[in-house]
Amino acid sequence: MARLLIVSNRLPISVRVERGALCLTRSSGGLATAMRGPHERMNALWIGWPGSVASLSPEQRDDADAALAGIRAVPVHLGAAEQHRFYDGFSNGVLWPLFHYLLDKVNLDAELDWEAYQRVNERFADVVAAQYAPGDAIWVHDYQLMLLPALLRRRLPGARIGFFLHVPFPSAEVFRILPWREQIVRGLLGADLLGFHTVAYRRNFAASAAHVLALDPGEAMIEHDGRKVALGVHPISIDALEVERLAGHPGVREEAARIRAEAGGRKIVLGIDRLDYTKGIPRRLLAIERFLEREPELRDEIRFIQLAVPTREMAGAYTDFRRLVHEMIGRINGQYGTTCAVPIHYMHRSVPLEQVVALYLAADVMLVTPLRDGMNLVAKEYIAARVDDDGALILSEFAGAAAELAEAISVNPYDIGSVAAAVKQAITMPPAEQQVRMAALRRRVVTHDVHVWARSFLDDLDRAAAPEPAAAAALTASREVPESVIERVRRAPERVWILDYDGTLVPFALVPDLAAPDEELLALLRALSERDRVHVVSGRRRADIERWFGALPLHLHAEHGFWSRPKACDDWVPLASDAAAWKGEIRGILEDFTRRTPGSFVEEKTVTLAWHYRAAEPELAGEHARELRARLEKRIAADGLELLGGAKVLEVRPRGVHKGRVVPLILDEVPERAAVIAIGDDRTDEDIFAALPPSACTIHVGNESSLAAYRLPNAGAVRSLLRSIHA
Ligand code: UDP
Repeated sequence: MARLLIVSNRLPISVRVERGALCLTRSSGGLATAMRGPHERMNALWIGWPGSVASLSPEQRDDADAALAGIRAVPVHLGAAEQHRFYDGFSNGVLWPLFHYLLDKVNLDAELDWEAYQRVNERFADVVAAQYAPGDAIWVHDYQLMLLPALLRRRLPGARIGFFLHVPFPSAEVFRILPWREQIVRGLLGADLLGFHTVAYRRNFAASAAHVLALDPGEAMIEHDGRKVALGVHPISIDALEVERLAGHPGVREEAARIRAEAGGRKIVLGIDRLDYTKGIPRRLLAIERFLEREPELRDEIRFIQLAVPTREMAGAYTDFRRLVHEMIGRINGQYGTTCAVPIHYMHRSVPLEQVVALYLAADVMLVTPLRDGMNLVAKEYIAARVDDDGALILSEFAGAAAELAEAISVNPYDIGSVAAAVKQAITMPPAEQQVRMAALRRRVVTHDVHVWARSFLDDLDRAAAPEPAAAAALTASREVPESVIERVRRAPERVWILDYDGTLVPFALVPDLAAPDEELLALLRALSERDRVHVVSGRRRADIERWFGALPLHLHAEHGFWSRPKACDDWVPLASDAAAWKGEIRGILEDFTRRTPGSFVEEKTVTLAWHYRAAEPELAGEHARELRARLEKRIAADGLELLGGAKVLEVRPRGVHKGRVVPLILDEVPERAAVIAIGDDRTDEDIFAALPPSACTIHVGNESSLAAYRLPNAGAVRSLLRSIHA
């Protein structure tokens, strides 16, 4: 039976030895909670690091592995030094601060950490591949495993692979800083579905991929390496029913009442965060200080409670940070404390969820002010716990949760004065307004809980990984040219070559005029044409083709076959008379887009008009290309024209003028026993492949899906093939 393989850096269970005995403890993080349902219900395996087993004896290790197997968990064991470089060094020392826009915290000397990151991702790939059975779905989690999708794709080409990022994806301007940006993007693009919390993170990823790999991404899909990668928006959530259940539990309600009683009638303003520098605690403390300074008559009306959960205690950046927070609290309490009370009640420890919910129930105001946060589950838990629809949530606009929770009081956490004002607004908010806001927030959190999140991601993964029938057939047919086929071509009594030019015989140049044929190519074509019939079928203007190849004994075809010049003739023959009355208006539209897109230009040929944007800024050009396409599609249908999207070019031409039209003319002149070999890289070459009989040898250059039987990686490989035929 097909299973789900959940892969995350940590297993939701840690293995430890306590007083000589092996013990397994459940962890309670957001990811562990989120995936518990799918793990239990879907016959899933969970693969991840179980904690250090260095202190375990070999027998205890075997016992631990067996105990993990019993709860469908598969350990990936890592050495202490490797784990430290991978986890503290690269994941939390480079990716975590970079993805949260805290550039001064990024570890600059990370070459060895990067190497460990790659090695650990490889280790995960080996373990996952060993567990995989055909039909299984694989769901990879988070920033520690961003190389894993592509590593798995290489090992398991047909697998369904999803990836979810639990942290923000930063703007392309920030992501580009990463020296290993290309490897990370390629790593992610091995998946069938990439999930993000918000539209903004998804947009940032698409823009980064466009920049780093010179791609043309759509909003919800990227085509890369002959595969489509879906980009989804899946805001993670909480087990709202469980939080509601705890909020109704008598013990929890008693604890909440105790906390309130201790506050002696003061309003409680609560913060709960891991003690992480992304959570904005120092600025929050400054905002509290500002509030106390501005509102002397409210000073004794309020109690701030901050629960700071210890985190990543081994990392240097966190030690300094902890000291800073503790000093600030000491300073503010020193300034505003009295003999009977201090303004900030601080707890630096982890507490059970029952206690967390009791705090939520006790708090009149929840302060959630991270500088950046992928989502922030504390905000959603507070809402779920407010079963009486009261209380007020102050929420940073830089938390992913802000995209969904519009009824919260939104603040910019960098603006200390406005956070102080938001605290006042929250504690003085009329009960009726609290009810309206909280009821709307609760409806959203309860209906979009973590179970809905997991289900919708897995449904999208099924859809994304199900290949479209036509594309799948085309793709499976395309493989490297086998030696047996090359041998058959070599031995054929006669050969006919149908060769595209740009991207096939020469690599693309930034400006088309720079892609002139080199001496080596001209010599190669001359040698080839001494024995074989060679047709060059290009989309270029006939003047270019004539200038470059006019002196060679080749059959030439320009402008997608509209013009042909047989070998040893001087005259070009048109396919049809030119009825180009449509051009004026289309030219006007294309010129308008050229003005708006620096680096793009219009190319005019006898029967076609093309808009090139290879040298333009990719994101802007991509956006304008989509807009232009939509505009032209509306305009051209009635005129018997068609629109063709090529490699960084959009071209308008009369319907029926395409490269496939030259195929019957070429085949008419050759005996049946001749071998026909067609090679091309572009959408326009697909018309040639479609017009040829199945006996022809068709080769696509590049990684896109194609009707061709075989593929070659690039123009260099095409030249090697041509040379090898006559070797
Ligand atoms: N939490 C906890 N122990 C505590 C305090 C909080 O396990 O002592 C939980 C809290 O209930 C929430 C999670 O930690 O589910 C914090 O998630 P969030 O998304 O807010 O931040 P993250 O820690 O993932 O950055």
